Amino acid sequence: MTETAPAGRARDTQADPPGWVIRAGQLVQRPDRRAVPDGAVVVRHSTITWAGPAGQLPAEDRRLPVEDHPASTIMPGLIETHAHLGSYTPHVSQHVSDPALLAQSLHILSALATARQLASVGVTTVQSLGARHYADVALREAIAAGVLAGPRILASGAQLTTTGGHSWTNGAEVDSIDDIRRTVRRHHKAGVDVIKVMATGGFMTPGTGPWAAQFSAEELRALVQEAHRLGKRTAAHAHGTEGIRRAVDAGIDYLAHASFVDPDGVTRFDGALADAIAERGIFVDTCAPPSWPPVPGETFTPRAKQLYEHGVGLVAGHDIGAVLPPSGYTFGLKQLEASGIPRAEVLTAATTRAAAALGLSEVTGELVAGRSADLIVVDGDPLESLDALDALSRVVIGGRPFVPDQVVPFDPKGSIPGQGPDTPGRVQASRNARWTAHRGLRHGPAFRARMHTPEETP
Ligand SMILES: [Zn+2]
Repeated sequence: MTETAPAGRARDTQADPPGWVIRAGQLVQRPDRRAVPDGAVVVRHSTITWAGPAGQLPAEDRRLPVEDHPASTIMPGLIETHAHLGSYTPHVSQHVSDPALLAQSLHILSALATARQLASVGVTTVQSLGARHYADVALREAIAAGVLAGPRILASGAQLTTTGGHSWTNGAEVDSIDDIRRTVRRHHKAGVDVIKVMATGGFMTPGTGPWAAQFSAEELRALVQEAHRLGKRTAAHAHGTEGIRRAVDAGIDYLAHASFVDPDGVTRFDGALADAIAERGIFVDTCAPPSWPPVPGETFTPRAKQLYEHGVGLVAGHDIGAVLPPSGYTFGLKQLEASGIPRAEVLTAATTRAAAALGLSEVTGELVAGRSADLIVVDGDPLESLDALDALSRVVIGGRPFVPDQVVPFDPKGSIPGQGPDTPGRVQASRNARWTAHRGLRHGPAFRARMHTPEETP
């Protein structure tokens, strides 16, 4: 017989704090608006009830306890629009009674660790774009129910891909329009918020090519229609130009990567396609920093600057868990700035616009009355230098102070976690090797016969 714990008993977070005021030397309500000197935010329960110049605090709020940060900035909590929760799952020994079940449990625990690390660097909302076992759905529910403290989560479940296609190990392989509809419906039944599809191959799956489209435009259209019918947004992983074009034509809501890579492995930015992306209001994350670490002669660079110049709505999605660890979030923002995108625009991509991309404009991403109290306090002025984001002194999620976990600071010149120290030369060599492997050239004839490099689907 199972027993349900009385409400609140299993919680490690406490009851709602009473109303309070957070005051700071500067208030950034949203990064594309002028900052308010000596600003304050009033938080009651989970919600912001007032925000503005501290001198104009409403009479009814003047008796509330005040937390003062005179040398700091209050700003909206950061948003990660492209995370993979659970990707740091430890290797599972086969010498246990049920390796699959153990792997699933470990996956969920690993997902929790990644989500909490993101919150610990100031990320208050996370969009999962590919997780096994609906770990992201479980985590979303546990956090929303107050069982665990962590960021707000939007869940995708596993990415829809072709059999043997990019990230097929996550489990949602589909090969026909019926398969696509069935899997979208299954995901809906499991409680996802967004449907993620692998429109092209990727770097991490042998036998797939990032330049190659995996689905026909017709298949992608069926996916988008079915998702929209069920009230879900759609997101496509797309490196290759043809895959980007098909996803755009199909009516996708969000593009990850948008690298514009051609079948010869060289990126050629397509301005007309970028204009179409901008016109249709499709949000884009360029994921990996423009180059990480900087690699001379690298052709496979995300096109953040050109997309920005074509008016595309960029958002801060770093492929956390696949490309960058959670600790690399602010590094990714700095790389966007280094690629030529104005600082306020980078901060908008990480807050207000990211909320819009997730369908949460009325919920978070801006510090005004009625929004969820998702905010951070950082020492200094992030509009002057993004380094301020690394001097985090407060994280509040849904009105509750979040106690950060210890996160080892990200060192771009150091090592890629789990892969040892890296240099630009080594990174280039490993990318070349992967590129070659993807084309099936590094494998013997037996492997090539088994799994040749895919061609474009018609
Ligand atoms: Zn990804």
